[in-house]
Amino acid sequence: MQTDEAKQLFKKLKIHTLLDLALIVPTSYNDTTLSHALELGKTVTVEATVEKMGMFGGKLRVTFVLPQFGKRVSSTFFRATPYHYDTFKVGSHHTIQGRLEEYRGYLQIPQPRAIKEVGAITPKYKTSLKATEIRDLIRTFITEKNLFDEGLDSREVATLMHLHFPKSLEEIYHEGALKPEHIETLKFIEAYNHLRKLRGKRHDYPAMEALTGEITPFVSGLPFSLTVEQEETIAAIQKDLSRSDRAAKRMVVGDVGSGKTMVILAAAMMALPHRSILMAPTSLLALQLYEEAQKHLPDSVRIALVMQGHTDESYREADFIIGTHALLYLEDLPVAPLVMVDEQHRFGTQQRQMLEALVSSQGGHSQGGQVIHDASGRRITNHQTPDGERKPHYLQFSATPIPRTQAMMESELVDVSLITTTPFDRTVTTRTIGRPGFPGLLEHIQQEVAQDHQVLIVYPLVEESSEVPYQSLDEARGYWEEKFDGVYVTHGKDKDKEEVLLRFRDEGNILLATTVVEVGISLPRLTLIVIVGAERLGLATLHQLRGRVGRNGLESWCYLFSNTPTNERLQKFAITTNGFEIAKLDLKFRDSGDILDGTIQSGQKFRWLDMGEDEEVVGYAKERVGKLEIRG
Ligand code: ADP
Ligand code: MG
Repeated sequence: MQTDEAKQLFKKLKIHTLLDLALIVPTSYNDTTLSHALELGKTVTVEATVEKMGMFGGKLRVTFVLPQFGKRVSSTFFRATPYHYDTFKVGSHHTIQGRLEEYRGYLQIPQPRAIKEVGAITPKYKTSLKATEIRDLIRTFITEKNLFDEGLDSREVATLMHLHFPKSLEEIYHEGALKPEHIETLKFIEAYNHLRKLRGKRHDYPAMEALTGEITPFVSGLPFSLTVEQEETIAAIQKDLSRSDRAAKRMVVGDVGSGKTMVILAAAMMALPHRSILMAPTSLLALQLYEEAQKHLPDSVRIALVMQGHTDESYREADFIIGTHALLYLEDLPVAPLVMVDEQHRFGTQQRQMLEALVSSQGGHSQGGQVIHDASGRRITNHQTPDGERKPHYLQFSATPIPRTQAMMESELVDVSLITTTPFDRTVTTRTIGRPGFPGLLEHIQQEVAQDHQVLIVYPLVEESSEVPYQSLDEARGYWEEKFDGVYVTHGKDKDKEEVLLRFRDEGNILLATTVVEVGISLPRLTLIVIVGAERLGLATLHQLRGRVGRNGLESWCYLFSNTPTNERLQKFAITTNGFEIAKLDLKFRDSGDILDGTIQSGQKFRWLDMGEDEEVVGYAKERVGKLEIRG
């Protein structure tokens, strides 16, 4: 096969590596080796001579003699064509294949095929290519030598060779299914192949500064002790930041309420006497972080807040600048060797690019380089990376738990710390209810409001829609406003949403909203959340929403209101509280099709690997890929 042709076919298959090709495993095989026995109910391949041919009840019937077995079988062709009459002439010899049956003591093979190539096991592939094209490709590239060159061991090579060039189907299938040991090997090869692609994609730069500030003044002033995972994460960051030869790139992933803010504040301490910048996706969150920083950092740390409509002019002298993307528009944002982003998962793609720009432009400063602004005044950076360019240490914080396997994969590109526990147990009871449960829910809401607690009701839509079998925000608001005082309403496109949220926090009883409340605002009195049409949302979103209640240890409830309250996904979610477990569940239900909010990560899809379960396989693949590198 010509290289050009192969390249075209690789392109058509959307694959890039030899192992991508090797992992296109046959979906079935066509086995034309002659049968040793006549087993009823099985597909048999036998030599046969035509003894009789004739019409029978409007169908063509052929009687064969099987010389090896000294038996007769008859075959009926329901839609006989001239081909059949031509082929099965009396006295002609064939190798026929079909399912062997018995009818009133007579052996039958209905509609057999006449086989030309006898004694072969031909793999069948389901791809966008023609059967001959994919077979050529496999024959050309899948050789023992090539597979060994990919770093596979002899067992792995043997498995792939068996699958693509089988000598007998017994070595492949057990009771009609691919043998478990083959599946294990395929899982490994899949992980290994993916990790190898990621290797070498990480680009590191020297850091602007090695940061080794003391965190004790901050830690010893805290009213609680840090959790083990908080401490571990802080230690990992200390190690990252103390290097000047490599700017840190770390993602800290921790459930809502796992105490990531403390890690952020500790990192700001490490940066001293240098400056750090922290960016948050919303003004509310920036304000909240600012308040926490004021509360917990030593008084000597100068903190500035920068957001739309509020800029502490002291930001030029501040040690710690906290803000929203308004930071990107500042005329003279000072240089900072530590840049952090909170709630990274809430930033859109475009905003993420701006973050990258922020990080890069920081490095530019230290070079004495010029910062370039685009027409809208936004900082942009040229993407050239001159030799010796330095970058700030970069820490991102995310509350979207990912399975450990995914974290292990991603750590090829960016270091990952997982915080899987929360400092105190939250008592949130989750219940799935349908319409009949509404009166009980109403009573519960009244009880909570009577105790000066707050309630959040999340609707799927702002306006009525025939597509959605639930009330919209507009339809429902009258009902609640009539029954309760202190009802506030907001949604994603509401210009005043932040103000409404602040007013609700201080004086409201019931907040009616769409999923806008995802925006990380802390409502300490919130004890009950109702999610209307819960089955329409991804588990990650449900988990984020549920994370809004019970943040201060008050007993809390999450009601999943659904027309199908017995939905398995909702039932499982109701009894699972750990975000990392939910991330696994999310993977399990990925294909369930009732998820409309698009919150499920599009991440790499694996055919064999189960990202929820196969931690060990991924760990082993990482080890093997690591060894490859050492070998060179
Ligand atoms: P996250 O940002 O991860 O969602 P926060 O940092 O906002 O979580 O922390 C949630 C709450 O837990 C805050 O009220 C915080 O003060 C508190 N907290 C953080 N760490 C601890 C700890 N080690 N022990 C007790 N409470 C803690
Ligand atoms: Mg937080």
